Order: sequence, then structure tokens, then C-alpha cells
Amino acid sequence: MNVTGTVYLVGAGPGAPDLLTLRAAELLRRADIVFYDALVHPDTIALADKAEKIAVGKRCGRHSTAQRFINKRLVDAAQKHAVVVRLKGGDPMLFGRAQEEIDEIEQHGINYQIVPGITAALAASASVGVSMTRRGLSRNVTFLTPRRGAGEKGHDWAHSALAADTCAIYMGVGEATQIADTLISRGASPDLPAVIVESATLHTERHITVRLADLGTAAAQTITGPAVILLGEVYAQVQPSEAVVEPVARSRIA
Ligand code: SAH
Repeated sequence: MNVTGTVYLVGAGPGAPDLLTLRAAELLRRADIVFYDALVHPDTIALADKAEKIAVGKRCGRHSTAQRFINKRLVDAAQKHAVVVRLKGGDPMLFGRAQEEIDEIEQHGINYQIVPGITAALAASASVGVSMTRRGLSRNVTFLTPRRGAGEKGHDWAHSALAADTCAIYMGVGEATQIADTLISRGASPDLPAVIVESATLHTERHITVRLADLGTAAAQTITGPAVILLGEVYAQVQPSEAVVEPVARSRIA
């Protein structure tokens, strides 16, 4: 086998193109081929001006055959190109299926490097202006998703959420009602402060502050973009962003 290339798994950050690392920008400039996810900003992809650019991945629910196909394409690309960039939203190592790609690349003896990016939960924290580890209220943070891939074993995500001082839930808005019901039935306070941060760092960004009990209603009525749910006492004082005009959120906050 004539393997020449290196595969770079690169974090594109949460949305805004200027939240990219210098290393990521340089690799994009050098890239011969870029495989990018749906949530990556077009201006970020455009930095790869000499590369062949290939969209892979859906907004949600990418299934395993598609993932296997991506893995294979990375290997094939590394056999033809020197600089192969796999560009992922946020940080590649969090909820990005990076490990499957790394395993496949390793199995083929191909060199690879990971370039970290700003993950959605940390961008969301910056947006709401609240420390996830506010002194006196929180000494730990849990990143979790209730989402389970096809064939994956179940996991007790609620246990992790209940044990955390502060919790960031990825890929959860679509099932926000079940999340809230489950947590409350397992002992969480219905008044636990929650913030839904949508499209963090993009011009469409907004956040909605609710009690846990109202999370499902708020998510169903207002959220269309990618969103992360933040839970914890640290969010007790967060004001909703001005962009939120719908009456449901207002009546709940009052
Ligand atoms: N690797 C990514 C996460 C991929 S999973 C990272 O580190 O951020 C995709 C989920 O990330 C979405 O369902 C949503 O929960 C969250 N997400 C991605 N971009 C976001 C954004 N700009 N604002 C809020 N949440 C976002």
C-alpha cells in the first residue's frame, strides 16, 4: 500500500468562523481535501481554498453505515493526498465520532493528528456569561447526551446529570420533555435553572432561561438551530437574550 498522507481531525469550533485555532486555519490552507460536517460555517470551509471540499454527515442521526463510509473515504484520501482534513463542529473529541475514524486510520497505518476546537458547551457558557464552575455553587461539570446510536448499549445519562453540579446536554433539545420528566421523576427539582443556548456564537444566537419543568415546552416552541441545554444552580440569575420574544418564556420567567 502506498500511504503518503496525514489525516488531521480538526475542530472547527462552535459556529463563528473566527473561533478557529491558528493551527486549524493553517491546516485548512494547506489541505488537499477536506471532509466537513453540516454544522461547520461556510467561511471556515472557504479557508481551504485549494482543497477539494466534500460534505459528509447530516445534522442529526447519522447512521453507522454512513459513518463507516466516511471512515473508508478518509483512508482512501490519505492514499492519494498529503494533507487530509476532517473538519468537525466544536471539538472533534466530544460527541463527534472521532474514535471510529481514528481507529480506522490507525488500522491502516496512516498518520493522524487531532486539532482541538471550542466545544459548544463552552461557547454557550461564554454566551450566557456564567461560569460552569462558579465558586461556592459548582465544583464539577458533566457533558452528556441522552442520544443513543443504533446498536449502542443504553446508559444511565440521568444518573450522571443528577450527580453533576453543572451539566451540559448535547443533542437533547429534540427530547427535552423526556429529559425534564426523567430528571424530575428521579429527584431533580422542577425549579432547577436551565438555559437552552441555540446557535451559540452565530448571529442567530439566543438563549432561553427556564425552570427544568418548563424545558420541554420552551424547546418545542422556540428552538430550530443546534442547541445545548445547560442545567445547574449556577444559572439561577441568567436573563433570557433579547431575541427571545415568545410569550411562553416570559410567562414562565415571571
Ligand atoms: N463536537 C461538537 C458536538 C457535536 S454533537 C462540539 O464539541 O461542540 C452536535 C450537538 O452539539 C448539537 O446537537 C448541539 O447540542 C451542540 N451544538 C453544536 N453547535 C452548537 C451551537 N453553535 N450552539 C449550541 N449548541 C451547539
